Amino acid sequence: MAEDAVLDRAYHQARKFLRTLPDRPVGRPVEVRRLRSALAMDLPENGGDPVHVIDHLVQATDPGLVASAGPRYFGFVIGGSFPVTVAADWLTSTWDQNAGLYVSSPAAAIVEEVAAGWILDVLGLPPTCSVGFVTGATMANFTALAAARHEVLRRVEWDVEQRGLQGAPEVHVVVGDEVHVTALAALGMLGLGRGTPKKVPADGQGRMRPDALEKVLQDCDGPTIVCAQAGNVNTGAFDPLEGIEPLVHRRGAWLHVDGAFGLWAAASPALQHLTAGVERADSWAVDAHKWLNVPYDSGIVIVAHPEAHHAAMSATASYLVQGREAERDPFDWVPEFSRRARGFPIYAALHALGRRGLIDLVDRCCALARRIASLLERTPGIEILNEVVLNQVLVRFHPPGAGDADAVTRAVVARVQRDGTCWAGGTTWHGMAAMRLSVSNWSTQDADIEQSARAILAAYARELGE
Ligand SMILES: *Cc1c(COP(=O)(O)O)cnc(C)c1O
Repeated sequence: MAEDAVLDRAYHQARKFLRTLPDRPVGRPVEVRRLRSALAMDLPENGGDPVHVIDHLVQATDPGLVASAGPRYFGFVIGGSFPVTVAADWLTSTWDQNAGLYVSSPAAAIVEEVAAGWILDVLGLPPTCSVGFVTGATMANFTALAAARHEVLRRVEWDVEQRGLQGAPEVHVVVGDEVHVTALAALGMLGLGRGTPKKVPADGQGRMRPDALEKVLQDCDGPTIVCAQAGNVNTGAFDPLEGIEPLVHRRGAWLHVDGAFGLWAAASPALQHLTAGVERADSWAVDAHKWLNVPYDSGIVIVAHPEAHHAAMSATASYLVQGREAERDPFDWVPEFSRRARGFPIYAALHALGRRGLIDLVDRCCALARRIASLLERTPGIEILNEVVLNQVLVRFHPPGAGDADAVTRAVVARVQRDGTCWAGGTTWHGMAAMRLSVSNWSTQDADIEQSARAILAAYARELGE
């Protein structure tokens, strides 16, 4: 059957990609012109043979594919995909369920329900929380902050869903100096403004300072939302929630925690001290496509006040077949309506890992981050800028004598990226250029760390002209 032929072809191509993934050059340079000329064409008048379409897609995209799912990609905070999550994702596409309503996919709704329970369990969050499955932490931040906006305004008797923000009481928003840009983007989309939040100074590792928060909160009269962070994208540091939470709640404010990757630390007994107090927040954002290693796009929003969450998200229309109390309609907890059943790969990931496997994944990535830091810092002139408390490492490269460390660091980053053994991004930390390494992939092993450290050291040596 033609249908079999194209699916077999895709299966074959996918297997081939996964087999060669660890050996592909990581993030090799590609000319945009070359990619365009391979892919751009006039829309054909008549459609093509499906097998040929897939082969063409595979062949033409290949030079532009980044091996970010592989074991030596340390850029941004990316993560790969466990084979079981790729498999579950294939089935998700195959089944093509609309996960918006219980009635349009009872299986998707119940899988989400079970996965939600597991997530609350492993993260140590209250089992009464409501959970939504969104595209990523940006939308998780958006959804959580929409719930926050609802609740702080409801408490002053303003129905923001009905009336909007025009004429509403002012909502004070407080963020840390190191707030992730996507939390600000979410605030912008919610009409709360990207530029209006009051910023709380951070310490040397990027953690919000509770003493400074206390001062900022003194100027917040009325509805207030505080955004804290579990896992700084540069240093991996955690805002001290144990100290922050009582200050926020004493003033009747809402505490949101952006834990896109860092919240998974709450699953690990060895790391739990970093997230102490997190379970007393009002909402959380966490990604599945980063550290849980499921395919894109997959994030999770968790809210301690289900009524606020529901009020902010639910769209009701009379033609919709609403489930009974016992049947959860997934669309009540997310901004989307028709939607991919992204609970399946998350369910598969947690089922295959188990509690023990999840702890191992998180602990292993952190151990590998410490390992690469220690391999690099042995060399004179190389400095690790952060306390490696999680899976993030910031590296700075000094020239001999009093040269320009910013220039050398940027040049080493560029050399490493060109070399293709591994991929690391650049950043600026407290005014200093740095190489940024994030170890978030399930398949990274000791040998990958050693090979990558050798490539980075070689790039540094060449930069110094040795
Ligand atoms: C990655 C990240 C985000 C955004 O998440 P997406 O999944 O890319 O939408 C938000 N906050 C932090 C701390 C992050 O690391």
